[in-house]
Amino acid sequence: MAAHPDDIEQTCGGTLIKMAEKGYRTGALDLTAGDMGTRGSPEIRVGESEAAAKHLQLSWRGNMHFPDARLENNIAARMSLAVKIRELRPRVVILPYWEARHPDHYRCCELGFEACFLAGLKKLDEYSEPHRPAKILYSSLYADVKPSFVVDISAQFERRMDSLLAYKSQYGETTEGGTLFPSEAEIRERLGAIARFYGNLIGVRYGEPFVVKEAISIDDIVSMPVRSI
Ligand SMILES: [Zn+2]
Repeated sequence: MAAHPDDIEQTCGGTLIKMAEKGYRTGALDLTAGDMGTRGSPEIRVGESEAAAKHLQLSWRGNMHFPDARLENNIAARMSLAVKIRELRPRVVILPYWEARHPDHYRCCELGFEACFLAGLKKLDEYSEPHRPAKILYSSLYADVKPSFVVDISAQFERRMDSLLAYKSQYGETTEGGTLFPSEAEIRERLGAIARFYGNLIGVRYGEPFVVKEAISIDDIVSMPVRSI
């Protein structure tokens, strides 16, 4: 779940590709269509997000069309999201980390968490079956916090990059929006450096960081990866 089309491509897209390769069904639910963005239009961005979905090997992608840049955690939004979660029945939900520069990002986190809770209530509505995801992960790439774990996306990084560049209205070489938008080369270097930093934490080339609120259970302490010294 993400606030804007192109958020998951920058934060957890490599992990989604990797999970699809393991045979899991993956999906993305974008809460807004980027209607306040300087470049493009909601129609263009949703179209681009569908092209990006192919690169990410998603089984499903949807958009809630909530208002961009002024995302609100209100009862109407929570209820429609909860019903969507009951329809989709995800086992694992990835939310943006709860602290962020962009208000839509932390609001998406709060909304997503509360909707996952509501979705499990039997009496929420009579037309859908209750469902509560077993696990909520917080994608922490843009937060300056120590991750609970890092996923090795070395083999998926280039395809994640392709998925982001599918947003031609955002990252294409056009002049609209002036200097506000970085070039493709700049984007590659920036995202490469961030993925390289997190990969380095677990001794691989590229990684994506996540935070979980619960403790992580380990069966075999002898086979734990990542060297201490
Ligand atoms: Zn965003």
